[in-house]
Amino acid sequence: MTQQNPHDLPGLRDPARTVTVAVIGAGIAGLIAARELHRRGIDVIVLESAARAGGRMMAETTALGSRVDLGGQWIGHGHHRFEDLAAEFGTTVFAMHTPKRPKIVDGDKTIKNFGASAATVTVVLLAWEIATRLGLPRAQTTRSVQSWLRRVPGRRARRLLEVLVSVSTTADLDRYSMRAFLEMVRFQGGLTTMLSTAGGAQDSLVAEGAGTLAERLAADLDGRVVFNSAVTASHRDETGVTIHSASGTYRAAKVIVTVPPPMAALIEHTPPLPVARNLLQDTTYMGSVYKAIAVYDRPFWRENGHAESLMLSDPGMAVFDTSAPGGPGHLCVLIAGPEARGLDDLTADARRALILGAIAAQLGSDVLIPRGWHEKSWHQDRYVGGGYTALPVIGHDEGYFPACAAPVGNIHWAGSETASEHAGYIEGAIESGERVAREIAEILSATRGDDATSSPTSS
Ligand SMILES: Cc1cc2nc3c(=O)[nH]c(=O)nc-3n(C[C@H](O)[C@H](O)[C@H](O)COP(=O)(O)OP(=O)(O)OC[C@H]3O[C@@H](n4cnc5c(N)ncnc54)[C@H](O)[C@@H]3O)c2cc1C
Repeated sequence: MTQQNPHDLPGLRDPARTVTVAVIGAGIAGLIAARELHRRGIDVIVLESAARAGGRMMAETTALGSRVDLGGQWIGHGHHRFEDLAAEFGTTVFAMHTPKRPKIVDGDKTIKNFGASAATVTVVLLAWEIATRLGLPRAQTTRSVQSWLRRVPGRRARRLLEVLVSVSTTADLDRYSMRAFLEMVRFQGGLTTMLSTAGGAQDSLVAEGAGTLAERLAADLDGRVVFNSAVTASHRDETGVTIHSASGTYRAAKVIVTVPPPMAALIEHTPPLPVARNLLQDTTYMGSVYKAIAVYDRPFWRENGHAESLMLSDPGMAVFDTSAPGGPGHLCVLIAGPEARGLDDLTADARRALILGAIAAQLGSDVLIPRGWHEKSWHQDRYVGGGYTALPVIGHDEGYFPACAAPVGNIHWAGSETASEHAGYIEGAIESGERVAREIAEILSATRGDDATSSPTSS
């Protein structure tokens, strides 16, 4: 085969590095895809805009030597790919320390399980669960969760539902349709699965940090991940794709975009993408979420019970005990939607005082003096754009899971949002990485016989 001079390639101004497959994004989906292709002997490179791997997964080491996750962390029940990856890297998986039901706290009051507010919430949750099973009225595509909740009797019940939906989806409830929410619940196997710790989506944790898995995958790719390499433009033609990035120009037979749709919209395409693809990218947005972990010598609160709670304060928050057995105490806090963005203008000290002050009212004043404090506002991460996932703008259904992953010429799509199962989760991201690697390996071997490793720009 003859190697084409990169300078002759359409849309190319700088000398290009040629590679068989270029993966855009070193989140877990991109890293898994690259690993699978590399294992098949296919020449692959990963272009990542940030200076680190992991995307929506990110682990840090605490002052006490333990590891905490600022991004995705929980292994949901049945998330076997994630479990297998954790086992493959020899990490320790442990079950969440969790009560039967989280405490619901409103100001200085704990809401009784059998009071009027709890009864209203139970009826609403049941109605939602039934609606997901019976099918979802199209009319609800334009009705926001916010406006739906206005009909729920009782301020406290309404607030509880608001915090519950917000923390479980990271959506702005006035920009998120009731249908999109119920569609998400249906896709994820129901409310119980979605909201539960033991046996649900928050079943277990990786002691070394889930983010460690992404770090290890990137390290194993041995120089094939190029950091500080935001892709800005892509020119595709019959024989491949030329991509322009902050680290230079690359020419590949196949490109995999693992960036979630709203962030992928920032990449300019020549020729333009099909209308349906643009619609998906333009009618989705990344959720807003703030996550913090307070670190203590030990999980002292366990002497008096559990720490897990849903706080209806302003901001509303979910609190979890994510301490590993025998390790330091870790209190994990999630705040979502506009209430997460509301923290952006505060100083780090003010955020910490606000959050720990609310928790101290429940767990005691020792909470106020953690040994460490780790926080991240994901909606302020310029490369990731937010989390947990991409959400459909009200009135549009293009962003419902799974997001379309039909190739556009030599561009293929992956990322958690495209998974056929557990989309939005780490498990879904891994599934999508495996799927896209298979998809490309099959095409390359079909078009080139068994010589799937050859250079892409030969024609
Ligand atoms: C706070 C938080 C908590 C979460 N909790 C959980 C949980 O407990 N369990 C769970 O299963 N999931 C959880 N998730 C979701 C989970 O983290 C994600 O589904 C998963 O990590 C997505 O992986 P991905 O590879 O599909 O996408 P990403 O991780 O978003 O990777 C995309 C990558 O592309 C890069 N990129 C973007 N634009 C460009 C460009 N133009 N050029 C080059 N690179 C680019 C980004 O920097 C990023 O690294 C959570 C997410 C967040 C934010």
